[in-house]
Amino acid sequence: MRWVKFWQGLLLFLLGVVSGNAVGLPLDPRRLASELKMNSQTIRVKLSGLGRVMTIKGEHLALSLAKRPELGNVQSEEWIIDCKRSLIYDPSTQKSRQIPRSGILIESLSGVLSLNERSFRDQLVVYPKELLSPYDESVRTNSECLVVNHIDLERYLESVVNGEFNSQWAESAVEAQIIAARTYALFQMREMRKDKGRVFDVESTQKDQVYLGLDRVDSKAAELVAKTKGLFLAPRFGKNEPIKAFYHSSCGGRTITPEKVWGASFKGFGKGVRCPFCYGSPSFSWDYRLSFHELEKKIWNGLAKDSTNRKFWPAEYRADPNRWYLKNVIARGETPKVIKMPMGALIPEAQAAQGAERDQGHIKELQFEFVNRENLDETLKVKMDAYVARNWIDPSKLKSTWYEISTRGRSIAFRGKGSGHGVGMCQWGAKNMGEKGFTRDQILLHYYPGVKIARISK
Ligand SMILES: [Zn+2]
Repeated sequence: MRWVKFWQGLLLFLLGVVSGNAVGLPLDPRRLASELKMNSQTIRVKLSGLGRVMTIKGEHLALSLAKRPELGNVQSEEWIIDCKRSLIYDPSTQKSRQIPRSGILIESLSGVLSLNERSFRDQLVVYPKELLSPYDESVRTNSECLVVNHIDLERYLESVVNGEFNSQWAESAVEAQIIAARTYALFQMREMRKDKGRVFDVESTQKDQVYLGLDRVDSKAAELVAKTKGLFLAPRFGKNEPIKAFYHSSCGGRTITPEKVWGASFKGFGKGVRCPFCYGSPSFSWDYRLSFHELEKKIWNGLAKDSTNRKFWPAEYRADPNRWYLKNVIARGETPKVIKMPMGALIPEAQAAQGAERDQGHIKELQFEFVNRENLDETLKVKMDAYVARNWIDPSKLKSTWYEISTRGRSIAFRGKGSGHGVGMCQWGAKNMGEKGFTRDQILLHYYPGVKIARISK
């Protein structure tokens, strides 16, 4: 058997050399791995929606240990990864090996890899999924793979263009959005690497920036990324460091500061701005109605999944949610505690919120009032940050935290404006500004009034 393998190998080698084509060129995978070391312009993107078993294909795939490429590597045209058991398997030799905690790095001679029929450039690193659990507790309950695409930042941005916006929009608007996306990526690359145990900088979903790999890249996207190469936003006064350049789909008429949404401040966000430009966007205004019982189910689900915020809920509720039924919900907004009614009387906010529908601006906090089913005198009030409640309820339907609520019987209606958190650039507004002839810099400085445009130094 050995002899057969030897002759097969020799034959393949000779064929490659004689034919002289790229596929046949002798490949030293060790050289390949060491050349593609991660540098400061490589972003680590966690891929999503991969399922439990994955197939990676490519031209002369080289596989090596991510941290010790010198320890040798194996080549194949295809790898199958069983994420549940953390095994990587070569279907041609039927050999499998355990994926170590330091990860397995896969790269191809052409620089393009196919992962479950989707194309990615540069390198893929596969880790055991346990490495994700400090950052994402849903990992414990599913067996999704943890695959991180190490990719050149500018190439990454070429794909983000059509994931987050659209290369066919007005050029000045697309360029402004690319600069915001680059700034956000640079910020995450600096922040996330402070934690040495973390193996990725950004997620490939709306949590960070939507990234779907090479299939989404078109020539216009690549052209506009090249045109803005290295440009990012820094605080106007201070060091040339990237800000956390948040952006969102549409603001609904004005943007808001990070403090007002998350209670945390970030450099470069002095104030919210008026936005007369997203009027008419698909989510400029919206309605969402659900029954109290549906809302209770969303709360139970949130308590089960969100360990970070679960602990703010009273133990007596968590012990047995079925004992409590939801009686009322009150929203508290960013406006002052006491509001003036038309007759000139001053009334407490909570009282007003129950009856009157009025614009309180973005909601900061929701208060849920529960009654004990067995003892109606026993009540429970639970306060919750509105942005967390939005995630628990359904961020695709409760599109922003800028809403008014009204309750009728055992149902609740949210009537809101805008889509997304409302911080930083309003994407629909930027699109419209571009169409109206505003320049890239005018768009950026409108939505990020506290910044200057800087360039990455070489
Ligand atoms: Zn807007």
